[in-house]
Amino acid sequence: MAGALVLKHRRTTLERVEKFLPELRSRLFRDTCPLVSLSCFQTPQRIPYDEAVRQEFRPAKVGDSFGPTWRTCWFKVELSIPREWMGKEVHLLWESDGEGMVWRDAQPVQGLTKEGEKTSYILTDGLKEAEPHSLTVYVEVACNGLFGAGNGSLIAPPDPDKKFTLNKAELVVFNRDVHELLVDFEILVGMATLLGEENQRSFQALYVANQMVNLLDVTDSSTFPAVHQLASSIFSQKNGESQHTIHAMGHCHIDTAWLWPYEESVRKCARSWVTVVRLMEKNPEFTFACSQAQQFEWVRNWYPGLFAQIQGYAKEGRFIPVGGTWVEMDGNLPSGESMVRQFLQGQRFFQQQFGRLCLEFWLPDTFGYSAQLPQLMRGCGIQRFLTQKLSWSLVNTFPHNTFFWQGIDGSRVLAHFPPGNSYSLIGDVEEMLKTMKNNRDKGRVNHSAALFGFGDGGGGPTQKMLDRLKRMRDTDGLPRVQMSTPDQLFSVLEKEGTQLCTWIGELFLELHNGTYTVQAQIKKGNRECEQILHDAEVLSSFALTQKSTFQYPSIKLQHLWRLLLLNQFHDVLPGSCIQLVVEDSMRYYAEIRSEGALLLKDAIQALFGKLLPTGSEMTESFLVLNTLPWERTEVVCRPGAETLALVKVPSMGYSAVNDSLTPIHPVTVMKQADGSVTMENGVIAAHLDSMGRVMSLRLAHSGRESILDGHCANQFVIFDDVPLYWDAWDVMDYHLETRKPITTLLTPLEIVLAGGLRGSVKFSLRISERSVITQEVILDAMCPYLRFLTQVDWNEAHRFLKVEFPWHVRSMNATYEIQFGHLQRPTHRNTSWDWARFEVWSHKWMDLSEHGFGVALLNDCKYGASVHENVMSLSLLRSPKSPDATADIGHHQFTYAMMPHRGSFQEAAVIHCAYNLNFPLHMVPAVSVQCPAWSAFSVHSPAVVLESVKQAEDRPDGLVVRLYESHGSTVATWLQTSFPVKEAINCDLLERPDLSSHLLLEEHGVKLTFTPFQVRSVLLILSQ
Ligand SMILES: [Zn+2]
Repeated sequence: MAGALVLKHRRTTLERVEKFLPELRSRLFRDTCPLVSLSCFQTPQRIPYDEAVRQEFRPAKVGDSFGPTWRTCWFKVELSIPREWMGKEVHLLWESDGEGMVWRDAQPVQGLTKEGEKTSYILTDGLKEAEPHSLTVYVEVACNGLFGAGNGSLIAPPDPDKKFTLNKAELVVFNRDVHELLVDFEILVGMATLLGEENQRSFQALYVANQMVNLLDVTDSSTFPAVHQLASSIFSQKNGESQHTIHAMGHCHIDTAWLWPYEESVRKCARSWVTVVRLMEKNPEFTFACSQAQQFEWVRNWYPGLFAQIQGYAKEGRFIPVGGTWVEMDGNLPSGESMVRQFLQGQRFFQQQFGRLCLEFWLPDTFGYSAQLPQLMRGCGIQRFLTQKLSWSLVNTFPHNTFFWQGIDGSRVLAHFPPGNSYSLIGDVEEMLKTMKNNRDKGRVNHSAALFGFGDGGGGPTQKMLDRLKRMRDTDGLPRVQMSTPDQLFSVLEKEGTQLCTWIGELFLELHNGTYTVQAQIKKGNRECEQILHDAEVLSSFALTQKSTFQYPSIKLQHLWRLLLLNQFHDVLPGSCIQLVVEDSMRYYAEIRSEGALLLKDAIQALFGKLLPTGSEMTESFLVLNTLPWERTEVVCRPGAETLALVKVPSMGYSAVNDSLTPIHPVTVMKQADGSVTMENGVIAAHLDSMGRVMSLRLAHSGRESILDGHCANQFVIFDDVPLYWDAWDVMDYHLETRKPITTLLTPLEIVLAGGLRGSVKFSLRISERSVITQEVILDAMCPYLRFLTQVDWNEAHRFLKVEFPWHVRSMNATYEIQFGHLQRPTHRNTSWDWARFEVWSHKWMDLSEHGFGVALLNDCKYGASVHENVMSLSLLRSPKSPDATADIGHHQFTYAMMPHRGSFQEAAVIHCAYNLNFPLHMVPAVSVQCPAWSAFSVHSPAVVLESVKQAEDRPDGLVVRLYESHGSTVATWLQTSFPVKEAINCDLLERPDLSSHLLLEEHGVKLTFTPFQVRSVLLILSQ
């Protein structure tokens, strides 16, 4: 037969090979044998092994169903391997709808996931006489699939009543030779089909595959080696030197919570990683990159044996911790300080548990990346960044795969987007060719990454993926594929990267823009808890230096920070998760709120002790505490009373108050004959119509009008919000075509507070039969902004509520606050890059200014926004139905504020005002006012914000202060403190001191210089 010359028709030959494969595949498993016995017990809880095995197990059989959703079913499996299977590879074949974990000798040994192509546990590679033939294992089956339990589609809310069937449980002899041949054929068919008719290699692969069919007798294993050898002859033909090199790395993206709750992710990590460890035992070249300190911490606590094995492989450089952050957080919404803490908690964990810091920031699946990240990465020991998510952009194709990414301060990092556009490849020919072809930086770099392994719900790599990749190591016509590590990849990119291009500013994802708004309670929880932890740290630091016995609550604060950081995971803070996860996150926010309040109370007790009332005695006096680094004069409510007071409190400090200050200009509120109301405080003057719309907003001195003639600001509008698929995630451009103003008045405008220190008016509007807005519009004496305290009862489906402000300002760009700074985005839609940003994100403020005048909009818990031409919109509430059918239904409270200003927003202190709105003064009743005003810190330049004060992680005698330049200017300033500082040392964001960089302590404090948007940390060592 060999040597027979035949004409080969390409199509028939290819189909012949393909048709042959099912026959071969059917011989993968040879003999089978039933289990000796199978029994089970079900529990609604996720319980440890020790507890599970003590329960009463009842008989079970293949074909039985279990459930409902989220329960756990433990199976006791007694098995006996037949004597005649001596020397054979024997598997426990297990196919169930729910994800499983095999336990042997009280240790987790193998994850089993049908969707992750893992349905067998290798009992033995070749059964020996000495090995036990009979044993008992346990299989822990979760009543959820790899992607949760969506009712009918992936992102549909989970079906709570789903049943999960055990389809297969038996012993089989696995035919490893057949498996190897199948992989050979698969690669050859891939080459034959995908390299194309113009490529000689495609025909070579095809004819070899055809010859293999000729030679192979599936019933006679003695024919296998020659056939395998034939395939190898193709795979061993090498590439030329110029061929592209793919750095393959095992990976397993596990969403820390998404279509399943946090607790299930703990088990997903164990199932996935124990499988990785099994693969490492058999494949010495296999490497695996693994992110998210929180997941490692879970496995450390719940599966210490597995964690020890992981540490072992980490030492060998094969199980590779990457990312450096606590979780793979959202890349847009966390505050600057939160992002620092993601790295601080993450990197410190990796250092403690693995003896090294991560060198790469790793966010393959996050919905856009802040332009502040390059600086924060560099401050945390990281100069490399990997993602692929921008390949999801709907409108524009990002022009690079490997490039330098430069942030708003000029910091540069090396970024790589794996050109396969996925973090869960299966390692086939198609993907390797795609990785090579898609690389948009051809000629600049010739290396790229390929991350393989089932992801999102976990699962990870399989033996088959590894076997595929092995065959493509260096096969002429295919890219070179080497098992690699992130460090190896980036090292070679750094070496090759002299020709790389630079991308400046944010990496904006042109998709999933609804995630800035959906699940408003999560957003509010995030913003509030960021403020609570900020204040708890500031006041605890004050207490530390005021009272020597005070214990800084570092353990408690770390715990609360970690809860907040966990909730910043990229399917939780963005709101793209199921209801169970929302409930989890609300529990964590509640814990931060209540425990944070106790920390504040402890700090205040330590600070003021005797000044505080001990019982219920009535006190006229009170203390005001300011956690922000500038002096504030504000109207506040006296604690325990309804009355107001105008108070002045120094920068990051406190003062005692007995009598209210008298404002230069009291607030006046006047009702007009037509039902409209004017409000004025000597700084600004507003005129509201009976529906609460602002018809005029002027600067009192100049009379400059903020609102475009004939238009009204504070106009609520509603849109149909029906995405194409990703319901909670997406708001599509076409929603803008469905705009409807809300004009049904429920309660007309009426005066609540008539003026003096505070004036306010109230009204309510009907959104629909089921939804109502009530608003109190508040103007305080001396305050440069008008506040809108808003309540919404919201019960809508696929509708989007916004509020609009048509300003009397003309500018090509609007400014939006981001982490530790701000950036500009166009207000026009000239190019596709401009109009793709029809819905963007912002933090505490945004601003539209022309020369000499502008208007800012401040908010206390919103993130979605847009400015088109002169119309600013704040996105308030959405109502998607998947994956959480109850998303945002219910009561909401939030505040925003309009702030017209003279000059630039920097000159007008918009940034300070936005902080003031978000960090209310703390009021504490006091029995005495015998307490001088005190300021812990002040900063001379208004451009520099002292963002954080905290105890140093490794120095109980030190404080770390973090400051940033907020105006976009180069500036020198004094940081003044009343703390007894004996040393001031520059440190990085991980608080590692730069010992060569001691700062001079002078009479005015410490002199610090800043470049635009620079973030600096200083370690202050206190004298005892
Ligand atoms: Zn993800």
